[in-house]
Amino acid sequence: MSLTIVRLYHDLLGTYGDQGNAEILIHRAKARNLDVELVEVTPGMAVPRSGDIYLLGGGEDGPQSAALEMLISDGGLNYAAAGGATVLAICAGFQIIGASLPDSHGQITSGLGLVDAHTIYDSSPRSVGELVIQPSRGELPVLTGFENHQGLTRLGQDMPPLGIVRSGVGNGFDRQEGIWHGNVFGSYMHGPVLARNPELADAVLRSAVGPMPEFKDPFAEVFAIERRNTLT
Ligand code: GLN
Repeated sequence: MSLTIVRLYHDLLGTYGDQGNAEILIHRAKARNLDVELVEVTPGMAVPRSGDIYLLGGGEDGPQSAALEMLISDGGLNYAAAGGATVLAICAGFQIIGASLPDSHGQITSGLGLVDAHTIYDSSPRSVGELVIQPSRGELPVLTGFENHQGLTRLGQDMPPLGIVRSGVGNGFDRQEGIWHGNVFGSYMHGPVLARNPELADAVLRSAVGPMPEFKDPFAEVFAIERRNTLT
């Protein structure tokens, strides 16, 4: 089986190494003998409509607005997500896939609307530091990451968070962090999050390809466990 991973605008949305999420997915997919193709979408390029997994990272407000405008006018990501493609969106990317968010001037504007999530900027201090969450599903262990954002994101009533915050801020409402709705994953966790949490990487892969054989990567596991033990 082959898998197409589409990395969107990592030159705009690649703070804190979020582009590394693609490398982790490729590594863990190849370990399951999947043929993997990485499509690198740069500004001006059309977004492929038949990818299996789409990745968005974090970024500053200006590049975030630019990326959102391009994604709205292209339409490819919305098309693919409506057809069931998997999406993993981090921080600015998470805000972009929601229904509304501030633009680079602080005015609320429409997002892609892949999920019912609304981001605001309020007067609270920027959320910066380690983030630890207890995931709500998928038999995932405690997840860790690094957050750095001004925006706070309120999920719609039927929108399940990725997890509940044990320490840190996350979405900033009801101790929720991120979202996992259908095949759409969003999170404020950098790291890159899939390097720090191999089990989440497999959950993302499984949402695209279905059940997979076990794969133990001792280096990744030792690193993940060390982070969890240090932070909990
Ligand atoms: N600009 C957004 C915020 O500050 C996203 C930040 C980020 O992606 N690190 O909330």
